[in-house]
Amino acid sequence: MLVDAHSHFLANYAPSAALKTSLEQVKEFDLAAFDAAAERHGLIGLVTLAQEMTRIHGQWLGSNALMAAFEELRPQMVLGMAGAEPLDERDLLNQERLAEVKAALQDKRLHGLLLTPPYGHYYSNDPRCYPFYALAEAMDVPVYLHHSAQLGEAHLAPMKFARPWLLDEVAADFPKLTLLVEHMGWPWTQELFALMAHCPRVWTDISMLACRPHLLAWNLTMARDYNLLDRIVWGTDYVGDRVDEWEAVIEGDTQWLRTELNPLLTQCGWPVMAEEELDGLLWANAHRLLGLT
Ligand SMILES: [Zn+2]
Repeated sequence: MLVDAHSHFLANYAPSAALKTSLEQVKEFDLAAFDAAAERHGLIGLVTLAQEMTRIHGQWLGSNALMAAFEELRPQMVLGMAGAEPLDERDLLNQERLAEVKAALQDKRLHGLLLTPPYGHYYSNDPRCYPFYALAEAMDVPVYLHHSAQLGEAHLAPMKFARPWLLDEVAADFPKLTLLVEHMGWPWTQELFALMAHCPRVWTDISMLACRPHLLAWNLTMARDYNLLDRIVWGTDYVGDRVDEWEAVIEGDTQWLRTELNPLLTQCGWPVMAEEELDGLLWANAHRLLGLT
């Protein structure tokens, strides 16, 4: 079995004025090919995240309406998550987006939220963002956070907005809120583990990390020492609408985890991953996180 707990399926980059909002507009997407690939890989869940980056970048990945449309099409498989800039271009609470996300969560059209502080140039513990956390806590849905450094030009995603410790206050102020910090908080993974160690509702994912195999092997070894392996999930972080491209990421990542990770761990002299722990990473932990049935 497999759960892709972090993807941006059907989510090509678009300027805000050109958002696709329905599947009819995604010409390249082949639903039959998606179903066949899901069956081939034993996929039982797919999280697809809209990502709003309008404050600085003027862009979206997908749209909230498109994620809801995908979920509506395959409700047993797909969980759509809303993207949001919690602050608007005037630096005030984004009331319009808050109302839109609230309606989508209440109607069960979407099942979570993604915030990307480094792309929006705000701190995640800024009290002006708190209504979004309060909403997610009240609706009992997870908040995904891009709290990692980003390659590319420094001014586009300043590292000062990405440090995991900023979430310490958020976790304390919203004790029933579930947070998922993407990409193991790279490169501040140990800082994230310190956060997770005293915040039992903070999770993380290993998406995009298999390209640095020694680093991922070490981070998973650390996670075992911290007793956190059961709050780590896997995802493709695929951005696009091509089933063949998405499937290639699935194949590359699952092959590495199932067949290459343990030989590397052995070579390094570190404990190997048990089958049950690998199952946890690839589906069982996400199954618990997302309440899949
Ligand atoms: Zn992502």
